[in-house]
Formats: sequence, structure tokens, C-alpha cells
Amino acid sequence: MARNPRYDILFEPVRIGPVTAPNRFYAVPHASGMTNRMPRMRAAFRGMKAEGGWGVVCTGYVSIDPTSDDTPLPYATLWDEDDVRAHALMTEAVHRHGALAGIELWHGGASVLNRTSRSAPLSPSGISWMPTHVGFMGHQRPRIMDDEDIASLLRWQGQAARRARSAGFDIVYVYAGMGYLPYEFLLPEWNQRTDAYGGCVRNRVRLVRQLLEVTREAVGDHCAVALRISLEELRAHHSDVAASQAHEVVALLSDATDLWDVKMDSGPTDCCPSRFTPEGSHEAVIDFVKSLTDKPVVGVGRFTSPDAMVGQIRRGVLDLIGAARPSIADPFLPRKIDTGREQEIRECIGCNICISSWHDGVPVRCTQNPTIGEEWRRGWHPERVSPAGGSAAVLVVGAGPAGLECALTLGRRGYEVTLAEAAEQIGGRLCFETRLPGLATWARVLEWRRSQLQRLPNVNVYRGNRLSAEEILELGHPHVVIATGARWARMLYSTLEIPLGELMGPGVYTPDDIAAGAVLTDPVVIFDFDNYYMGGALAEHLVARGNRVAYVTPAGHASAWTILSNEQPQVHRALAEARVELHTLVRVEGFTPGAVRICNQFTGAARELPCNSLVIVGTRFANDALYHALSAHREAFAAAGICSVTRIGDALAPGAIVHAVYSGHRYARELDGDATAHVMRRDLGGAAERIAERIEE
Ligand code: ADP
Ligand code: SF4
Repeated sequence: MARNPRYDILFEPVRIGPVTAPNRFYAVPHASGMTNRMPRMRAAFRGMKAEGGWGVVCTGYVSIDPTSDDTPLPYATLWDEDDVRAHALMTEAVHRHGALAGIELWHGGASVLNRTSRSAPLSPSGISWMPTHVGFMGHQRPRIMDDEDIASLLRWQGQAARRARSAGFDIVYVYAGMGYLPYEFLLPEWNQRTDAYGGCVRNRVRLVRQLLEVTREAVGDHCAVALRISLEELRAHHSDVAASQAHEVVALLSDATDLWDVKMDSGPTDCCPSRFTPEGSHEAVIDFVKSLTDKPVVGVGRFTSPDAMVGQIRRGVLDLIGAARPSIADPFLPRKIDTGREQEIRECIGCNICISSWHDGVPVRCTQNPTIGEEWRRGWHPERVSPAGGSAAVLVVGAGPAGLECALTLGRRGYEVTLAEAAEQIGGRLCFETRLPGLATWARVLEWRRSQLQRLPNVNVYRGNRLSAEEILELGHPHVVIATGARWARMLYSTLEIPLGELMGPGVYTPDDIAAGAVLTDPVVIFDFDNYYMGGALAEHLVARGNRVAYVTPAGHASAWTILSNEQPQVHRALAEARVELHTLVRVEGFTPGAVRICNQFTGAARELPCNSLVIVGTRFANDALYHALSAHREAFAAAGICSVTRIGDALAPGAIVHAVYSGHRYARELDGDATAHVMRRDLGGAAERIAERIEE
């Protein structure tokens, strides 16, 4: 199909110093969880974005020296020739598709604890970075850099830039953002120096300018030099000579870089969840940059709409449309726009599961795109599937995220698929959850799959069709997939964090009851030991419905796990705004209508809270009754023509939506595969051979 001419502007080349980006789609540096120990996985993951049409594809953060060691978070390194070879795999993969490769050289300064290298962290003035934040807590304060340290830093940046050039990169970064070392020099709170690097803004930008100079010196005319900078805090700082200190910094460095990559300062504002922040939220902070520089500007904002992208360019906000999450959710986003298929873009839902993978220290995962990170180790291509194997027909029971993804992928492979759903609507848990405050964007999980399924004549969807084991035997599909989801349990929680026997009395509810329309009597207490979004989102939901709500959790924070998805600060703000009474580090011990008995996790000290409706958001159990009923008829399978009955998604192991989508996709990929299709390749990066050599030495 032909491209809509309205989007032609997105496909114009952009000159960046000595190199030219073939279009305006720029996959910005972002953490992938794939370190130098996974170079093939990493190369395939980034090469896929180039294949999908991103004109520039960047690495995540790459340490220039062991004094910048982010253990246990997965960071990349460019410390020696081995590292050069590891990165060269990526530049080759990216160049193969005509894109430019960028590398984000990085020094973490006081925000890293150097847990492996055991070097004292470096800093402008000996001030720790967020020392009460769980990720940055440590027992060693950073040391103050002297002139020799600054000279070393410049030398490391120059050496790394030379290595980057020899690894084949086209754009080499200086990274002055997100609390890392050059950023610490820019901010007066962390930079309290009285030498040439501290005091006025001109002095505070000196280090960044010198880093840009040594980078340029190292790469010559071969590569562009880019500056990635966080402007949120600087823009909030008063200036006597400009609109803000951010304006001063950009004006002072206007020509010192070939490219401005502009962003926010912390995870929750930079990589903000859709639950609390809309698309394009950075604009209010970065909108001035182009007025102060002639160099191209790239920025992000979870852009998935080509019209929003065109708007950014036409209104003079950005020259290049940066993306991390939209390029993960759909590596083929640019190609789809280019070929008039923008309706097919698998839009990011802003859930931040991807960022939680980095916090977990594992390769990137995505709710929308189950193939991400699996390009090399499982050979999964986001746009291609292998043709159907020997079996003809598959019955998928349940049209939640798992069943939908499974039916879609089986349909793409060419199987005759019957998707049966008990409810009148498809979507499973999404039908209720996407009506909770802030979660409407998550409906994209359903909508994208619904629209894709409509294109497949070989997938038949039957709504209002609750199947029994007997009916399934009668239907006699060779393969039966049970995707019947999970249910919330009415169980409390012991001191050993083990769910206790069910509470069956009146006034006890689960999220399933609220989804089914239960009306609650005040006061309501939500007891949350699930720790993800459900407890917090339900509290907001019930308040919006007019209930008076208290939230109780054994964890230290509300929705404790959401620290990993950058949501936690906003969860707390939202609960405070909704006037939800918060009780942390306590668990519910007992309930009779009128009062709930809570006790401190550690001291056992007990007290009562007024409560007529107790909502337990705790354990979930698989809805596997249908599976077991069918399994009881195993001897009848052959006569019915059934070869396999398999559980997927929550019906197998209750989890988040990301788990269900992945589970459904994996089943569909592996059906009729040979035994090796189930084997995940291990990426040792050639390290095994080299380690063997060295042990010999
Ligand atoms: P998952 O996240 O694993 O996809 P969900 O709970 O979102 O799970 O979806 C499960 C779906 O299965 C629900 O829409 C539910 O109505 C449907 N379902 C459950 N039992 C049956 C059944 N016997 N026949 C058809 N559909 C069923
Ligand atoms: Fe977007 Fe969620 Fe995928 Fe991240 S995990 S790219 S936020 S859909």
C-alpha cells in the first residue's frame, strides 16, 4: 500500500554532523537488559528495529570505565577490545538495513555504587545520589573529583569514543542526564565546587563541553557527536540572564554538539506510565530547545500516532521522533507508516513492564510485543511466523490476552482456529481492568488483537459460548488450548506470607466481585498483598464511585511492586489526592462486618479499623476446572480426535498481562514444531572459548 502523503515529512533524511539519518525515526538509547554477555541477542534485538525502518538505532547506556559500574543493573561496557567486538555485532546488524548506529557512552558518577569494581564512586562534591531510594542505597559516599580525576574522565571518554568508532558506530554520545556524572556537574545541588567547574552556569557546563570536545577529537569526521541531556530540573532553576538555567545551558552549548537528545530527569517523569501521564508529556520542558540551536533535536514522548509525530516536527518542537517504548512494542512502526499500514501499528500501552525488566536485571519484555528479546534466542520475528505444521484445526477456549494472542498467532500461521469465549465480549480481564482509573490505554492489548483477528478468515470467534468438557470432546479439534484465566481468592495472609483459609462471610469481596458489579457499603478496606496495580487502581475506582476507602498492605508502600515500573510515586500521589487512608506494614488478621482487625507485620501490635466491606486483593488461582474435567476423559481423546489439551496464560499460572500474552504466543509458535523449537539458545558471546584460553594461561 502507498504511504499517506501527510506522513512524507517523517521520511525526510536528516543531516547529523558528518552523517545522515535516512528518516526521522530515531530509536533512542534505552536499557535493554542485554549486557555485553548477550551480544548476539542484543544485536538481533537492535537489528530488528533497523529492519523495521528506524533510521537511527542506539545502544543503551555503555560504561566507559570500571569506575562506572551499575551492578546489579544490566549495563553495557566499552572497556576493551573484547567489548568492541561485542558491540560490532550490533552495528553490523543495524547497518545491514541502512540505519545509523548510535552509542550512549556513560559515566554514572555518584548514582552508581560500583559494587563489582569496588572503586569509590566519583562525584563533583561528594554528595550521594538519592541515598534513600532502594536502587541507590549504599554504605559508601562518593568521593570528590580532583583535577586528576577530571583529566582521567576525559581520557576514558576519548578512549571509549575511539573504540566506539572502531566498533562501527555513527553517532557517539555524551550523556548528561538522569543523575549521571556530567548531569551532577550541571546541577548546583550536586555541584558545590568553587573551582572552574562549579559556581555559575558557564562553569558548570565546562565538563560537558570538554567531554564533547574529547569525543569529537576521538571520532574526527567519521561520527556525529550527540549530547543527551535532562532539562526538567534545569528548567525549574531560575536564571538572571535567560528564561531558566536550561535555556542558559542550551545556549552555551548550542554548537558544541551535532545533535541534541533532550529528556526528563527521573524514571517516573522520563519513562512515565500511561496510567498517569499522556503521550507527548515532555514537550512542556523541551519545547524551547530548537529556538536556541540550529542542530537537530530528538526527543521522546511515547509517540505512536504518526499525526502526533508530524505535529512535533511541523510545530518546531523536534526534528527527529525519538522512541524507546514505541520501538519495543512495534519495531516495525516506521515501515507500517511507510507502507500505508499505520492502522496496524501495535501501539505501546505505557505499562512500563519493559522498564521493570531492566530493574529486574533481565532482557527486555513487553506486554504488547511477546517477540521482543526473543529475536535471536528463539528466532522469533515480530512480523513473520512459520507456516502451519501438520495439524489443521485448533480450539482456543477463552478470549483474554492469552487466548487472543494464541488465536491470532495460530491464525497468522494458517491454522483453522476456533476461539470460544463464555462472555458476550472478548477481552477477558481487560474488559474490567481497562475501565479502572488510568488504565484505558491498556485496551490497546485487546483492540490491536481484535483488529488483526478481523483480517483472518481462518479464525472464527464465538462469543457467549461457555464450553464444557463434553462439548469440547464432541467438537473434537485435534488441539485444545485452555485459556480460561484465573480468579481472585478471598484469602487473608499469614505471618509467613502464606494465604490462609477462605473468608466466606458477608461483606468480603475480591476484584472479581467488583468487576461483576458488586455495590460496597462504607467504610471500605482494601487489603492488598498482590502489590501490583490492582489494589491501588481499585482504591481510586471505589473513591470515584463515592466510597470511603482505606488501603492496607503488609508492604512498605502502596502497590509496592510498581517501584519497578516507575509508577509508585504517582500511585502514592493519586491515593493521597483521592484521600485514601494508607496503612502500610500491616496485615488483616480478621474481619466481621463493622470492623477489620489489623496487626503490624513485625511487632504484631493489633488494632481495629471501621469496615463494612473488605476487598481482598491477594492471591489468584487458575481457572483450571475445565482443564481437569477434560483430563478426566483422557481415554476418550483418541476417539474424539484430540491429540493435545494444553493450558496457557492465567489458566496455567496466574500472572500479569505480559505473562498471558507471552504464554499464548509461545504455544502458537511452538505448535507442530520439532523438539528443538522449545530450546532457547544461550548467548555466551564467545566468552566460553576465551575463558577457557585464559584459564590455560
Ligand atoms: P488470560 O489473562 O490468561 O488471558 P483472562 O481471565 O483475561 O485470562 O481470560 C480468560 C477468559 O476465558 C475470560 O474471558 C473467560 O470468560 C473465558 N472463559 C472461562 N471459562 C470459559 C469456558 N468454559 N468457555 C469459554 N470461555 C471461558
Ligand atoms: Fe510499551 Fe508496556 Fe511494551 Fe513497555 S512493556 S513497550 S510500556 S507496551
